[in-house]
Amino acid sequence: MGKDKGIVVPGDFLGTTEEFMLGRGVYDEEGNLYASQIGEISISDRRVINVLPVVGTPPMLEEGDVVIGRIEDIKDTVAIVSIACVKGKEKREIAASTQGVIHISNVKKGYVSELKQEFGYLDVVKAKVIDTKTLRLSTEERDLGVIKAMCMKCKGNLKRKGNVLTCGRCKRVETRKIADDYGKGLI
Ligand SMILES: [Zn+2]
Repeated sequence: MGKDKGIVVPGDFLGTTEEFMLGRGVYDEEGNLYASQIGEISISDRRVINVLPVVGTPPMLEEGDVVIGRIEDIKDTVAIVSIACVKGKEKREIAASTQGVIHISNVKKGYVSELKQEFGYLDVVKAKVIDTKTLRLSTEERDLGVIKAMCMKCKGNLKRKGNVLTCGRCKRVETRKIADDYGKGLI
């Protein structure tokens, strides 16, 4: 990832605190700096690194909105969600590439040791917007989380069995941060 130009997505490594000072749209994890939002990298004369929203993107989400999206990527501390629609406002237009981010601290109440225990690639999730500037999402509440998932091994549909999901085809058992209405097709 180029450090001077280009678009970065949440979780992209930008550099270290020895090279840069923490600016906007950036978070620090043990001396490593990562993008917390989608945007362009901008570095000031004083070596302050910022990730700034791409100019011209209209604000389309409001705090407290519940969005439906797909898990696009899972990093160590954040899951990237491509947002498809807003609950109750399905007709509101969303820019095609709108991405939100679920930080490991906003997945559920209680400690999460590994994000991959909570989300899988291409899972459909329901999440609440908690910060519109950085598009941070939360799945902490009971009715939020994964509403549809497929088996990582055979791509079969996973069905809920108590607190876990099981594959009807190959019997694999997987864990997720499951929403109350998992598998009911309700948004
Ligand atoms: Zn399977």
